[in-house]
Amino acid sequence: MANPLYGIFGGTFDPVHNGHLETVTAVFDKCALERVYFIPAAIPPHRDQPDANAQQRLEMVSLAIANYPRFDVDDRELKRETPSYTYDTIKSLQTEDCSRRYCLILGIDALSGLDSWYRWRELLDSIHFIVVQRPGWEIPEPLPDWWQQGRTEFIEDLKQFESGKICLIEVEPNPVSATEIRYGIAQGIDVSTMVPHSVWDYIRTNKLYGA
Ligand code: ATP
Repeated sequence: MANPLYGIFGGTFDPVHNGHLETVTAVFDKCALERVYFIPAAIPPHRDQPDANAQQRLEMVSLAIANYPRFDVDDRELKRETPSYTYDTIKSLQTEDCSRRYCLILGIDALSGLDSWYRWRELLDSIHFIVVQRPGWEIPEPLPDWWQQGRTEFIEDLKQFESGKICLIEVEPNPVSATEIRYGIAQGIDVSTMVPHSVWDYIRTNKLYGA
């Protein structure tokens, strides 16, 4: 029998929001994943420093997934002193258990820049990618060679092959972004329905983003 599939969902999570949770839930169900690890980034290599600190972002993710028994939060990127390269994270996970097959879940926006990531070709050779649509983002045309080569529409391929597959999964789009939430809070706009209740309470209690 093929090894079970484990999902990895990395991000800044500044803050984690319903778009993240809905996406991962849909992917989890469709791809019959064993578990999903949410991995907050400490020092994001591709973007500015987050507004909330590492501990706060970690706590918000923990609160958000508290009612999802098959979702976990993993703080290894927050404990590292080095930039949060996905390659390093995957290698460290694979060192712990080499029998696991990992799938990185990410939006089209994030995958489109893959060829600028640290050791991205080795990363492609190590894991699968599950890509989800995000409102406002289209699949690039023409598709880069590396994407064309790994592309599949068959979820079964994630089990059949050890690595290197890039599978686009249709999910109900939720246009929310963390940027919109941070901006909304700073402007006094009600964005409370964009995050789980527990995360909203945390943002208010800790006066994050100008709340
Ligand atoms: P920001 O607005 O600060 O850039 P974000 O909302 O994009 O944040 P991140 O933590 O940067 O959130 O995203 C982590 C992952 O979640 C990325 O792969 C991103 O593509 C994906 N993602 C974020 N929001 C959505 C959404 N609404 N639907 C689907 N995927 C999403």
